Amino acid sequence: MHEVIFLEPVFKEMIWGGSRLADDFGYDIPGKHTGECWAVSAHKNGDCQIRGGSFGGKHLSELWREHRELFGGATVAAEEDMFPLLVKIIDAKEDLSIQVHPDNTYAKEHENGSLGKTECWYILDCDKDAKIVIGHHAKSKEELKQMIKQGRFDDLIRVIPVKKGDFFQIVPGTVHAIKGGTLILETQQNSDITYRLYDYGRLADGKPRKLHLEKSIDVINCPHQDTGTARVTEEFAGGIKEHLVSCDYYSVDRLSISGDADFTMTDAFRIFSVVEGAGMIDGTDIKKGDHFLLPAGYGKYRLSGEMELITSCTGKKKDPE
Ligand code: ZN
Repeated sequence: MHEVIFLEPVFKEMIWGGSRLADDFGYDIPGKHTGECWAVSAHKNGDCQIRGGSFGGKHLSELWREHRELFGGATVAAEEDMFPLLVKIIDAKEDLSIQVHPDNTYAKEHENGSLGKTECWYILDCDKDAKIVIGHHAKSKEELKQMIKQGRFDDLIRVIPVKKGDFFQIVPGTVHAIKGGTLILETQQNSDITYRLYDYGRLADGKPRKLHLEKSIDVINCPHQDTGTARVTEEFAGGIKEHLVSCDYYSVDRLSISGDADFTMTDAFRIFSVVEGAGMIDGTDIKKGDHFLLPAGYGKYRLSGEMELITSCTGKKKDPE
């Protein structure tokens, strides 16, 4: 099918959120603490509607159920029968709690057959001295348990500086947290299973938020190891493509367009988020903050203008575990 499918984001108010989704992206946000823009999502907690075209007004989950041909007819095991990816823009004005996700095997057993979560972060913008949490300093499970028991979280967590354009792949079992002053585009497996390890002792509505220490200890990788990302840049007429990561669940690239760039779709479907500038896709105007997908069989397409996009497709994993 040769039609661009535009999506309407869903917004989430969060205690740690800010107003950059309105200030920087021009979105009509629900309040002053909007933390998340679910830009491409068929998740039941935030199912995007299609904007205009043949499917205008339908939800992405309906398209997935009723028009599987748009997604290359992908067949998946019943428990995994949902649109596979979730793309968010996150505006962290304050620190998010420190968390970890299980893998598919653990989630299946302990979370009623849910999926685990692998995610990746592209840093769209951040304060000059911004930091994030990735990993921890415990050398073994025993040391991890000990440090958690003693409440030595400041010694345990690994805080690293970030700058605009950085990219991180976060595999299951990785302790992680976005810290205040950071704007991130997140591409992830479509799952919501999160174990909270530490919340800086904060109170929400007068109470500390629930922690999941046992499950966190179960799933945290010890010792921590960074997951390398091989960033490879390729120049072509009208732009530059930077490959950010490929894993079982997704493949993510950054496109920098300057002029006219021609492509051919070879994927089951492909997601695009315009994160800077403006231009066109096959003659239709697009600008910063627009999210769309190209369905299976779209064929050749042209991106033109002066803009940056983050684009993703599903990964190489074919068989359910
Ligand atoms: Zn996470």
